[in-house]
Amino acid sequence: MSQTQQSEKPRFRVAVCGGGITGLLLTIALSKYEDIEVQVYEAAESFKEIGAGVTIWGRAWSILSRLGLAHDLRQAEDIPSDGQNDPTLSFDLRKSDQPEEGFLWKALRLPYTCLYVHRAHFLDVLVKHLPEGVTNLRKRLITYSNQDSGSIELQFSDGTKATCDLLVGCDGIRSAVRKQMFEDEAVRQLQPELVKYVDPVFSGSFTYRAVFSMEVLKGREGEPHPSLNAPTIYCGKGKSVITYPIAGGSLCNFGALVTDVSAAGKEYGGPWVTESSAQELLDCYAGWEPKVQDLLKLIPPEKPVTKWVINQVHPLPFSVIDNVALVGDAAHAMTPYQGAGAAQGIEDAYVLAGLLGHPLTTLATLHLALKAYEHVRLPMGKHVLQQSKRQGWMVQQLSEYGDDFEVIGTAVDKAYDWVRGPDPHSELERALRWCYPNENATAQL
Ligand SMILES: Cc1cc2nc3c(=O)[nH]c(=O)nc-3n(C[C@H](O)[C@H](O)[C@H](O)COP(=O)(O)OP(=O)(O)OC[C@H]3O[C@@H](n4cnc5c(N)ncnc54)[C@H](O)[C@@H]3O)c2cc1C
Repeated sequence: MSQTQQSEKPRFRVAVCGGGITGLLLTIALSKYEDIEVQVYEAAESFKEIGAGVTIWGRAWSILSRLGLAHDLRQAEDIPSDGQNDPTLSFDLRKSDQPEEGFLWKALRLPYTCLYVHRAHFLDVLVKHLPEGVTNLRKRLITYSNQDSGSIELQFSDGTKATCDLLVGCDGIRSAVRKQMFEDEAVRQLQPELVKYVDPVFSGSFTYRAVFSMEVLKGREGEPHPSLNAPTIYCGKGKSVITYPIAGGSLCNFGALVTDVSAAGKEYGGPWVTESSAQELLDCYAGWEPKVQDLLKLIPPEKPVTKWVINQVHPLPFSVIDNVALVGDAAHAMTPYQGAGAAQGIEDAYVLAGLLGHPLTTLATLHLALKAYEHVRLPMGKHVLQQSKRQGWMVQQLSEYGDDFEVIGTAVDKAYDWVRGPDPHSELERALRWCYPNENATAQL
């Protein structure tokens, strides 16, 4: 606990369950308010991120700047700190599922700032900015219970307990908080169908992920590989391969996605992450254009390749009950086709922290602030979840537009419309107005 937290009785106590990108960002944002006590409980023995690249949209950068994190992240990623020449959304979409040379069917260019960063670098920056005394590792939440006093008791797998006034579930796609919330509400509201929101469902897609050195691509003979020139999506029926640079352009983030429409929406019984092989990948994309074969050959045959099942959360009917809230993937885990999941978690965390931190929010009005968070953020999270999946299916020619690339091209542009909607700070102000309509409340973050 920080000195200020120790010295005075806090306005209220917040327990953040889960120390991924969303949970850490929320903890940092809340710790800006000296009179709010915050503790983060993480199941793992250290904070860690799996995978390589993550997209940070301009919307999320504006939050990182306000919270004083942007400078360090830019430095870690070797991105110029003035932001003047930040790249905007740019992807070359190629038709690639034929043995002969493919062709560019869409140069996706939209004026939305969009930077790719290395997950480990991002996490390091977040951990560096955590205040002292807020971190609790090896604390896996099992259940929570409302006490007569109004506080919430948390029970962890190691037998220990903790107490808070507000529990925020930032515990990802398999959220224990979401599980209990929807199981309890199914009973309380006499609506057994609510249990369908407990478990994630298979999106229909899985992905092979890898990272190469860009030097390997540069060192190849012949004309420059398209992945060197621009972030690229190699598209085919039911499959796609995506590449984009991370770590200041020194590394290439590679993802190969495969979709089985008939399996989408069902529960996935097997393990989510399995070991595959370079050979499986080569077999999967056999008959695709030479540029894709070039990429696949960069994966050393002796090295294991990880294959991920992509699950998602059913769009939720609510994300807040009493003084318990769901944030980030716990509320809207989505497919990665728009690279938007982490950034949506960041926006959730920012709006929630701004509402909680406002001086009008006290233990007595906490429920109002939480409802305002839900009112503003739940529809947005759901919308992006749906657009991300739709876009994936469009570029893999699985939508109602089939392989009509002209129509798909226009629809893909439109699927990103949410990026230019009101920025997160305006959304926070909207949430405050909704929460305190007569108070002319303005954001204090
Ligand atoms: C293949 C792939 C590619 C992606 N690419 C992008 C991209 O380019 N851009 C983007 O924005 N998003 C992307 N995403 C989505 C992004 O990774 C997630 O949206 C984001 O990491 C979610 O962060 P989170 O903190 O909400 O959840 P998580 O990262 O899942 O963190 C949850 C944390 O909670 C902990 N936890 C779990 N259960 C408990 C418990 N019971 N008690 C305590 N702690 C617990 C976990 O250990 C973990 O640390 C991608 C996702 C996938 C699968």
